[in-house]
Amino acid sequence: MKSFDVVVIGGGPAGYIAAIRAAQLGLATACVDEAKAADGKPALGGTCTNVGCIPSKALLQSSENYELAGHHFAEHGVKLKGVELDLAQMLKRKDKVVKGSNDGVLYLFKKNKVSFFHGRASFSKPLEVKVHEETLCAKNVIIVPGYGMAVAQAQHAVYEITKVLREKGVNVRFGIHPVAGRMPGHMNVLLAEAKVPYDIVMEMDEINQDFPDTDVAMVIGANDIVNPAAQEDPASPIAGMPVLEVWQAKTSVVMKRSMASGYAGVDNPLFYKDNNRMLFGDAKKMLDEVLVALKA
Ligand SMILES: Cc1cc2nc3c(=O)[nH]c(=O)nc-3n(C[C@H](O)[C@H](O)[C@H](O)COP(=O)(O)OP(=O)(O)OC[C@H]3O[C@@H](n4cnc5c(N)ncnc54)[C@H](O)[C@@H]3O)c2cc1C
Repeated sequence: MKSFDVVVIGGGPAGYIAAIRAAQLGLATACVDEAKAADGKPALGGTCTNVGCIPSKALLQSSENYELAGHHFAEHGVKLKGVELDLAQMLKRKDKVVKGSNDGVLYLFKKNKVSFFHGRASFSKPLEVKVHEETLCAKNVIIVPGYGMAVAQAQHAVYEITKVLREKGVNVRFGIHPVAGRMPGHMNVLLAEAKVPYDIVMEMDEINQDFPDTDVAMVIGANDIVNPAAQEDPASPIAGMPVLEVWQAKTSVVMKRSMASGYAGVDNPLFYKDNNRMLFGDAKKMLDEVLVALKA
């Protein structure tokens, strides 16, 4: 199974522009399109490129040239004899223009790192798309809770979100730092109180290697325990401290009330990484809004 943040079905103007933009925003993106050229190769660009805007305008340009040559050039003193219409050549040129546009979309996909799949897409599960025997999905989430979840008493809202995602087939797990919160085991107690199943609550050492295969890492009210400076900046006061490597996920989302530093009082470069998004506000309020959006 191949995992993506976004899977776009249809490589017409709507689909290919959406896919390219999603990839430019740093999301792992796939686009699926079934259209075939006469040689069986992909014919990206949809109705517009294959039978609509592009071929109609290519033919219009050819017929306009014929009209000008036959009826208007003489006014300019350009006299032509024996002007003929070669329909086969006109259609050949139109096909060449269409092929150039098909290949242009493919080139843009490559340039912007959009993975293209040629074939008919169908939904096998709510978050899974099937093309031939291949399954594409956006479905691995790791939640990293911290002191902010405890302060906001957001553990029940976190579990409601977990349940909705799991019902949609998403693999949701929790990554617990040994000193998250204000004492060892603080997060485990809160999650147990909210009835989060034990088997999806993982210790840091059990889950750290899984971040590169994770679509979304959701950091809820945590800061120092997800600070990459611990590994990347030998001069940092927290250099060498073990941390949860959320920045390795395809996308991380940090929920926080502000950009303020954490207990250690150091800046967190995670917040400025291209694949990170900040969601500012009270963790409980933010999670309630995420839940409403997920259920919509
Ligand atoms: C003759 C004609 C002339 C036109 N001229 C103009 C013009 O001059 N200017 C203009 O602005 N508009 C024009 N249009 C309209 C324009 O072509 C459409 O508005 C535009 O193509 C719509 O883009 P789209 O991405 O929404 O859909 P489409 O272009 O129809 O693309 C849909 C794509 O989805 C793929 N697809 C669908 N289902 C699946 C599936 N299950 N699995 C995999 N792939 C799938 C199809 O293969 C197709 O490539 C013209 C249309 C026609 C017919």
